Amino acid sequence: MVGQWANLTPEEQAALLGVGGLNAVQADHMIENAIGVYGLPLGVATNFLINGRDYLIPMVVEEPSVVAGLSNAARLFREGGGFITSSDEPVMIGQIQVLDLADVYVAAGAVMAQRQQLLAEADKVSSSIVQYGGGARDLQVRPIVDTPVGPMLIVHLLMDTRDAMGANTINTALEHIAPFIEQATGGRVNLRILSNLADHRKARAEGTIPKAELTTDKLSGEDAVQAIVEAGVFAEVDPYRAATHNKGIMNGIDAVVIATGNDWRAIEAGAHAFAARSGRYTSLTEWWQDDDGNLQGYIELPMAVGTVGGATRVHPAAGAALKLLGVESARELAEVCAAVGLGQNLAAMRALATEGIQRGHMRLHARQIAVAAGASGDLINRVVQAMITENNIRLERARQLVQEMSK
Ligand code: NAD
Repeated sequence: MVGQWANLTPEEQAALLGVGGLNAVQADHMIENAIGVYGLPLGVATNFLINGRDYLIPMVVEEPSVVAGLSNAARLFREGGGFITSSDEPVMIGQIQVLDLADVYVAAGAVMAQRQQLLAEADKVSSSIVQYGGGARDLQVRPIVDTPVGPMLIVHLLMDTRDAMGANTINTALEHIAPFIEQATGGRVNLRILSNLADHRKARAEGTIPKAELTTDKLSGEDAVQAIVEAGVFAEVDPYRAATHNKGIMNGIDAVVIATGNDWRAIEAGAHAFAARSGRYTSLTEWWQDDDGNLQGYIELPMAVGTVGGATRVHPAAGAALKLLGVESARELAEVCAAVGLGQNLAAMRALATEGIQRGHMRLHARQIAVAAGASGDLINRVVQAMITENNIRLERARQLVQEMSK
């Protein structure tokens, strides 16, 4: 059904099923010393309405509850009109570290005096990106005077990398312009590397959940909205909570980033650095009650994902996942990721602020325990049910039940 919806070929379907996905030869081309291929579950989150369009969201994740929680949250947002998203132009930051300078401020001026020539040089080695409509956009200079190794000038090259994540593209441009910067400043260049704090390339998502949708057996809609807003503020003011709150957001985002063959360490680094931008680590989302008493949420974070380059087209399942998602550009993918982050955050906060996370989680956890104890087929559900009824979800008990029930 999913295959039909997204018009996937039999090969693409096989790649997603894991039967025809990444093979050992391809893996050997991707990394060094490859000895095999490591599988993870690939699920599809449903109910997503983003800017008026329906999406199915491919997710690669090993943790139970993530896909179900997100699908449920997306349904709640859908009741309020779905997610509204936006994003910046896909501009990445590359950094050049210049040392041994007599005066960092004079050096900064010398770099800016050659801004046009330096941007043109960066474009020269990036002709394919320029062809696709990207290219060097600006230079910034950041003198840092007081460091343990003396003053340094950090030069930022801002480059639009269009549908690529852009790491290789920008690193190539940096290496090319570094000698020109040495010439202009009389200094010595040390590092030339992109920054994962891609704060010129942010994606945003927002949405509303009608309060009635949040009513539970024990809480009115109003009370649930208030409890979720309070939970959100907890993460805004306390880094200990923010770390876990943002981890929950990344449960969803990483799963999509991995499914589409993107670099999830880059996305993680960018998200957490951005969360600490004020000097105090805080939440990536904001939650509040609107004038009608409904719940509103907002997320903004750097989102350097690509739909070309890296593993996106090399890994057969990543290509199929991108097709399933149906995104046309890196910006659209970034916006989907932002919506997923906001949805995943709602799923976690709603569970925590209303019924507690364990109730929903325990059944899935019990399934993993039952499988680990050797149950298969029908036996899994019987062992799970017995453990839940006994309120005793432990591996030893699962092993006993498997033995008893297989007699
Ligand atoms: P890439 O090197 O494959 O370059 C993308 C290529 O796609 C470009 O050369 C361009 O010609 C082509 N292309 C085709 N259509 C395009 C379009 N519409 N828009 C833009 N380009 C188009 O990929 P990349 O994105 O430069 O690099 C990503 C890889 O770099 C990832 O695998 C990442 O893990 C890795 N990396 C990351 C870091 C970091 O995050 N710190 C550092 C180094 C490398």
